Parts: sequence; structure tokens; C-alpha cells
Amino acid sequence: MSRAVVALGANLGDRGSTLRAAAEAIAALPGVRPVASSREVESVAVTLDGPDTSKPRYRNAVVVIDTELGPQELLDALHGIEDDHGRTRQERWGDRTLDLDLVAYDDRSIDTATLTVPHPRAGERAFVLAPWLDADPDAVLPGAGPVADLLAAVGDDTERVDEPRLFDEPARVGPSSTPTTAPDGRTGAAS
Ligand code: ADP
Ligand code: MG
Repeated sequence: MSRAVVALGANLGDRGSTLRAAAEAIAALPGVRPVASSREVESVAVTLDGPDTSKPRYRNAVVVIDTELGPQELLDALHGIEDDHGRTRQERWGDRTLDLDLVAYDDRSIDTATLTVPHPRAGERAFVLAPWLDADPDAVLPGAGPVADLLAAVGDDTERVDEPRLFDEPARVGPSSTPTTAPDGRTGAAS
């Protein structure tokens, strides 16, 4: 089993419903076990020319999964879920109903024509770092450092959305197959 971190984003359509449906679809992939998920954040659209307040705002979230899929297999499956939500590929960084990025895959460094991991811009994007930290307070971006430190360095310009976490029954992040106990005494399903 490998641990993977997936960032979800949407700025067209019913963004919250799309993010929740996408998280469910990721959790339901064969060879995938949900580990933790964030709440949603909202932020201004960033285009190749910089922040653009005339564009629809983004909703973003992060899910942490354990998976038997290899990194490219997982990316292909994520693209399938994007397609199911009517994603069309036009301009780079353009408006989209759903964007799924593979942020990290264990602590591996991958650089192929179709996949770069860790995601090269994750460490600079508050809309990735803030929900990732929400899903996993101990998160570390491989090669860059603790997500909490990276977020403090870039500054958190996201707004928390008052909605539940994406997965219905979020488990706590912890080592696989060891039950973990939340601060409030609940037992997380980590097996
Ligand atoms: P962006 O997210 O940068 O706006 P797209 O979602 O259209 O752009 O993705 C463009 C390409 O980026 C994809 O076809 C994919 O092969 C490539 N890519 C490389 N590394 C990653 C990654 N870590 N996660 C997602 N896509 C990636
Ligand atoms: Mg993408």
C-alpha cells in the first residue's frame, strides 16, 4: 500500500457537490482506501496572468488515500473522474468543473512526460496547503518540509467553507492497520 494525497478544485457548476461526488468516486476506486479528507476552502481564481477576481472563485479540498494503484494508474483514474464531471481541457489553468491533482505519492520523486510528483506548485499554493493541513495536521510535503511551515510562509488567503469534511466518516491519519484514537476519544477506523 502507498499513501497518496490528491487535491481537488472546481470553479464552475455546483462546486461543492462536484467536490463531494469526486471524493466519493476516488474512495470507491478499486485498490483505494480513504484515510482522511479536508473541509472545503474558497479562494480567488489564479490564471497564468495571476489572480483574476473577474473569474468564478474556486472551491478546493484535499483527500488522503492509501492505494495499491501505481502513481500513473492513479493519475489515469483521476482523469477518468474529471471526465465524468464534464471536464474539458482548453487553456492551461483555465476555468474547470473539476481538477484533480496528485500532490504526493509516498515520498517518491517522479518526473515523466505525464506526471510530476510531488506536484511542483503544491508548496506555493495556499489552496492546496490549507486543506491538506486540515486533513492531516502532521502532513509533510516530500522534499519541502512540514505543510504547516509552508503554509505559514506563503500566507493563508483561503476562506474555510462551513460544510462537513468530504468523506462521510473520516478516519484519522495514522499508520495503516493500527486503530488510532482521536483527541475526543473516538476511535478512527485505520485498518
Ligand atoms: P493544471 O492542473 O495545471 O491546470 P491540467 O489539469 O489540465 O492542468 O493537467 C495538465 C497535465 O498535467 C495532465 O495531463 C497531467 O498529465 C499533467 N500532470 C503532471 N503532473 C501531474 C500531477 N502531479 N497531478 C496531476 N496532473 C499532472
Ligand atoms: Mg490538473
